Amino acid sequence: MDDNRIVKGREAQRWIVDTALEMADAVRHTLGPKGMDMMLVDRLGNKVLTNDGATILKSLETKDPVASIIAEVAKSQEQNAFDGTTTCIVLMGELLRRADELISRGVHPNAIIKGYRMGLSQAISWSDELAEEKDAYEAGREAAKTAITGKSAEDFIDILSDICSRAAMISRPREMMLLTVPGNPKDAQLIEGLVVLKSPATAGMPNTTKGNIALIEQEMAPPQTQISLNDPEKIQEIVAIQNKFLEEIVKRLVECKVQAIFCQKNIDSKMMQLLRKNEILAFRNVRRNDMMKLTEALGAQIIADFADLQKEDMAVGETEVVESVNDYVIVKGDGAKAASIIMPAPTEQSGEEFQRALEDAVGVSYLAVKNKKMVKGAGTIQAQMSHRLLSGEDCATADNSKVEAARRAFAEALLIIPQTLAESAGMDLMDVTVKLGNSPELGVNVHDMVLEPMDVFEPLAVVQSAMSGAVENGVSLLRTHSIIMAKPIQEIFAEAERR
Ligand code: ADP
Ligand code: MG
Repeated sequence: MDDNRIVKGREAQRWIVDTALEMADAVRHTLGPKGMDMMLVDRLGNKVLTNDGATILKSLETKDPVASIIAEVAKSQEQNAFDGTTTCIVLMGELLRRADELISRGVHPNAIIKGYRMGLSQAISWSDELAEEKDAYEAGREAAKTAITGKSAEDFIDILSDICSRAAMISRPREMMLLTVPGNPKDAQLIEGLVVLKSPATAGMPNTTKGNIALIEQEMAPPQTQISLNDPEKIQEIVAIQNKFLEEIVKRLVECKVQAIFCQKNIDSKMMQLLRKNEILAFRNVRRNDMMKLTEALGAQIIADFADLQKEDMAVGETEVVESVNDYVIVKGDGAKAASIIMPAPTEQSGEEFQRALEDAVGVSYLAVKNKKMVKGAGTIQAQMSHRLLSGEDCATADNSKVEAARRAFAEALLIIPQTLAESAGMDLMDVTVKLGNSPELGVNVHDMVLEPMDVFEPLAVVQSAMSGAVENGVSLLRTHSIIMAKPIQEIFAEAERR
């Protein structure tokens, strides 16, 4: 489209609907366990195979303003609920498609908005009633299982869903560590503590410690001399001063009962030998990010100046060095809770795919563990909500016939989820729609291509968030009456300020 163009009214609405449908179409084939993988290729020829809707939408390189809003919707669903992004976009596409039909039949967007919102609030209260409260661990495990189904991690679903749920019971996803290492995924493990991928600074240091831990920011080396020296005696003298300096530091460390040191910078080789002799375990060049996690897990500060060590600055905890393909150290603080997942994967690409799958799974597990309310997936919950809204039993209808038409359109749109799952399995859509209308307690068995009661569970929060996200964002797009290709918005504000 040209710059500085104004698109108004029906034309703007068409643009919005077309874009939403295009984007929904780009991801709908990935929905559910039989969803297809898509290959993303960037301009540099990097390839990644994925069936994760959020990843696909995020990677679409687009200047289309409507498309980027829709990509944002997927992102915010992921941030709020960790999962359900494809569901949200597919549903929003369907809602906009039906809105477009209603508009063509003379229904005003405001009536549609009212009807959609009414339908949404009814669907939310009905799903609240349908939800089953489970035991926290069980809810977390079921949620992780559903999130992992259909991804490459599925072959290890039992081990991984157990790990995710246990991890979610210990720590918040943001504070969890997920480490992919080369190896066999069946050796995945949960560690109740923080894992730092590091080997001890030098051989011969203790492998386990219990007691004070110092987190040091500075390089652990003697002060540098700038003088150029030719006199060997002078050199010796300086070396002696440097050695003395190091010995003093180590003496201080011993006085402070330091058992382990994490140093963000380098540790001088002489220093390393002194530490080893004093049986202090030390790690050097620890990443800043890991240092921050250590402060959180241990509830301690980073020491800026190691020459000025105070006992009070020390963290207290246990460390254990584990030797494997990549050595790592487990750190446990007194009382502080942390969880780390070590995820071995055969290739770098599969490592990334496992990482993404686990991030989602741990997130939904966390929601499930906290909230414990679960609903039936595989399209069942959507069929149940749709049925309730259309049946008229205990469910108010709108007085205004146009609003009512929109409320019903919302209820029918919910079926897009079981329909898309059925489509991915190659089932007959008409047949599925009719059967679900009569027996909404069924779900889509995508493997056997039949409708039957399914034991697939999702956190209520994910389902509700995807549905609200689809309606609220769909509504704000419906409200958009004109799209103006403006100058960069920042420039407009800058001009206003100058005036
Ligand atoms: P999203 O990005 O929306 O999470 P997914 O590709 O993860 O998309 O698909 C989620 C849908 O797949 C949900 O409706 C869920 O109930 C359904 N689903 C998950 N596992 C199964 C299963 N074993 N059989 C049928 N449907 C399933
Ligand atoms: Mg999912």
